[in-house]
Formats: sequence, C-alpha cells, structure tokens
Amino acid sequence: MNTIFKEVLHKGLKQEILIKKVLVDMTSKYQKIQVFDTLIYGKMLVLDGIIQVTEKDEAAYSEMLVHPAMQILKNPKDILIVGGGDGAVAEEVLKYNFINKIDLVDIDEEVIKVSKRYFKKINKSSLSNKKVNLFYEDALNFITNTKNKYDLIIADRPDPVGAGKSLFKKKFYNNVKNILKHNGFAIFQSGVTFLQKKETIEVIKHVKSIFEKSGVILTVVPSYIGGFMTLVWSSNQIDMLKSKVIKGRKKIKTSYYNDEIRKASLSAPNFIKIILWNIQ
Ligand code: SAM
Repeated sequence: MNTIFKEVLHKGLKQEILIKKVLVDMTSKYQKIQVFDTLIYGKMLVLDGIIQVTEKDEAAYSEMLVHPAMQILKNPKDILIVGGGDGAVAEEVLKYNFINKIDLVDIDEEVIKVSKRYFKKINKSSLSNKKVNLFYEDALNFITNTKNKYDLIIADRPDPVGAGKSLFKKKFYNNVKNILKHNGFAIFQSGVTFLQKKETIEVIKHVKSIFEKSGVILTVVPSYIGGFMTLVWSSNQIDMLKSKVIKGRKKIKTSYYNDEIRKASLSAPNFIKIILWNIQ
C-alpha cells in the first residue's frame, strides 16, 4: 500500500511524494535519516524531513556543483567536499582521473553507511574509492584545523538548519579561503532563491566580503521545489565569467551538464542579479 512523504520546508508550501517502500527510518546522533523508494524520483534520501538527493534528478545538482569548475581549472588535484555524504558529488569529481584525492567531510557516518548501501546508482561506490578520504566531523572544525590546502572546495551542504547551520557562518567562508591554494576555487550550495532569498543573500554577502571574485551558477533540480537553485562560486584569482574550458580537458559523460549549459548557467534573472548588484 503506497504511503505519502510530505516535505514542509517552506512556509505555506509543501510537496507530497508517493512512497512505494520505506527502506530506512532511523535517527542518528545528528538527524533523522530516511530513505524512500518513491514512484516518481526513485530512491530518495531525506534528512530531518528535507529532501537531500533523489536518483532521478541528482545530476542537475551534482554535475553543476562539479563540472563548471573542473572544466575551467588548470590543474585541480586536491578536492575538498563539505557534506556530500550521499557520494553523488564525489562520483562526479572521480570522473577526472588526474585528481590526487578527495577529502570528504560529513558530520554523520550513518549517512555514509546508508548511502553506500542504497545509493550505488548515483554514487557508483565513490565512497569506497581509494582516492576518497572520509572524515566524520563538523566540517567547520575540519576546515579550521586542517593544514591541507585545496584546489577546489565544494560545499555540498544541506539547508542552514540543525548541524548544517555551522556551514553558513561567516567564519566558515573565511576558513574556506584560508585553505584554498593560490588559484583555488570554491562553490557553495546556496538555496532555491525564489523561496530561500534570505539564504542566498547571506551567502553572497559573506562571499563578496571575503573573496575578490564571485558569482552564481544556476541549476534546476525538480525535487528542490521553487525554481532555480543558486550555487555561489568564489575565488581570489579565477573569474568564472571570463574562463574557458581548458584545452584538451577530458570530455565527461553527463546527463545534465554540457558547455552551453555551463555558459548559460552563469547568467541570472533580475531577481537574482539585483541581489548580486545590491551587495557591494
Ligand atoms: N544536496 C543536498 C542539499 O542541497 O541540501 C545536500 C546533500 S548532502 C547529503 C548534505 C550532508 O551534509 C549530509 O550528509 C549531512 O550529514 C551533512 N552535514 C550537515 N551538517 C554538517 C556539518 N556541520 N559538517 C559536515 N557535514 C554536515
């Protein structure tokens, strides 16, 4: 008998998704962890009642967090993923065989265990790949204390609720900057701006006050309801708006990303442009 999952992330708006089977329903030290097999999105990871990733539409998110940067960075060898416990973003980075390593810092080992078991289709066992080093701690602590330096830092973080809150503090962005290499580049999941405008404004305000260059990459992930999801990019040396794909950069197999989409995703509708303009 089908049951219904109700996501109530936004005031006054909820989405109901038909569940064929409940695969996981547990509470870890940090959050409620559920995995549903759904009619429309395939398997879906839900943390504290908020959709994190689905088999059907994860590419629109994980490919756009990874490939616009990996295609234009000269020599990205050392990558840090903040959050990312479902392994989908790590899988995209592993498509580039020239990288040295991925450090993945997720606060919750239970999410990794669940993702290894139920999300092989989207992570292709990335979480067991020898190039991926797993760390189980608050990523804010990790980036404050690590001596490592990175070419690319990807904040595959949840919404600023619960354990995710620490990944939206100004200190987080300052520490990200401190552990980026000279030509380093960072990209942050920054909410569905039409419904989470405050979240996007906060991120852009912090990033603009810390980095020389920044901007947005837009994507649309149907299960993250409300239209464009904004990914904020930042760097002190690299301007994504003026960057081109590195000559000879390996063509990768994707279901959402391509170079036209890369270019188009850097443009923003006025309601997002105004945020960028108004924050100096
Ligand atoms: N794509 C999702 C989104 O846009 O909301 C994010 C997916 S990923 C599963 C989010 C991960 O962040 C979770 O596995 C969660 O355990 C982890 N996380 C939450 N707070 C964290 C923190 N303070 N430090 C490290 N990882 C954290």
